[in-house]
Amino acid sequence: MPPSNNPATNLDRRFILTLLAAAAANALPTPLRAAVDPEWTTPLPPFRIAGNLHYVGSRDLASYLITTPRGHILINSNLTTSPAQIRLSVEKLGFLMPQIKILLISHAHYDHCAGSSELLKLTAGTHAPAAYMVMDADVPVVESGGKADFQYGRRPEFLFPATKVNRTLHDGEQVTLADTTLTAHKTAGHTQGCTTWTMTAQEAGKPLNVVIVGGPYVPPRYNLIDDPLYPDMAADFAQGFRTLSSLPCDIFLGAHGQYFDLLAKFGRKQAGDASAFVDPDGYRSFVAGRQKDFEAELARQKLARRSRNSPNTIANVPHVDMFGFFSRICFSQKGKTCAICDK
Ligand SMILES: [Zn+2]
Ligand SMILES: [Zn+2]
Repeated sequence: MPPSNNPATNLDRRFILTLLAAAAANALPTPLRAAVDPEWTTPLPPFRIAGNLHYVGSRDLASYLITTPRGHILINSNLTTSPAQIRLSVEKLGFLMPQIKILLISHAHYDHCAGSSELLKLTAGTHAPAAYMVMDADVPVVESGGKADFQYGRRPEFLFPATKVNRTLHDGEQVTLADTTLTAHKTAGHTQGCTTWTMTAQEAGKPLNVVIVGGPYVPPRYNLIDDPLYPDMAADFAQGFRTLSSLPCDIFLGAHGQYFDLLAKFGRKQAGDASAFVDPDGYRSFVAGRQKDFEAELARQKLARRSRNSPNTIANVPHVDMFGFFSRICFSQKGKTCAICDK
């Protein structure tokens, strides 16, 4: 397939390629390791986004430092190898890891929380490590090192160091440190405790609504209709989109830089555009686009199930789907083309 200029399509392809590479790694002898996109580990110079909110992640795996006079909050520890990069970024901005008092995450997948155990050690200094706070339904996944994940729990390449959670969060709860309050919005589906964080950043005397999107994509092979380990998946996705649509947004951020076009906005910021990350229209169109993707995938899976159960189905012929990657089952009907692959 030729490269696409559509960031969403590129992101989908990148995620699929990562999963395929991980599947290939599965055939290799131990130790098993999920494939890592180079953009996940290539550093980006740290910078202040607005007010007391800073970017300390890589070119695609986002990590945020929110500073206060009584210590700092960090969102996302990322891969097991990421804490060293995050530490360098925090220190380049003039802060210290032991000043971090609270660690939060976007969701309990290895690319956003595998580094938590190591990162908490870096925050310890001579005092207690930061408090680790996680949304309720993601807590068993984090504390089992990924084994409790409904989709990837039996895939060794997706597991990570198990880490104890100090505070279990619930939808709408707040996390406060000194003069800063973050709100945890449960936007589940991608994981069962996927969390979108909001806060207000004061920039030039003006309050700006910040939204850090947790993860609105339906990964390949998710069963939206009748996954016995996650029967409410589709309802959770739908509720998540209602929540995302209701949030006021000036500054649009997320768990991956690609969600919000990080690299282009970073370039504009470096060139002197102080409001490069103010993008309410980009936020609205991103949420609407991902909701459309979810609804199309749900409709596709419902149709596939109807076709599977139809007495007219003549063959289960393996074929390649619209992405060109995965073999699925063809549901060709007598005298009609397959509704899934048009063959
Ligand atoms: Zn994820
Ligand atoms: Zn991710």
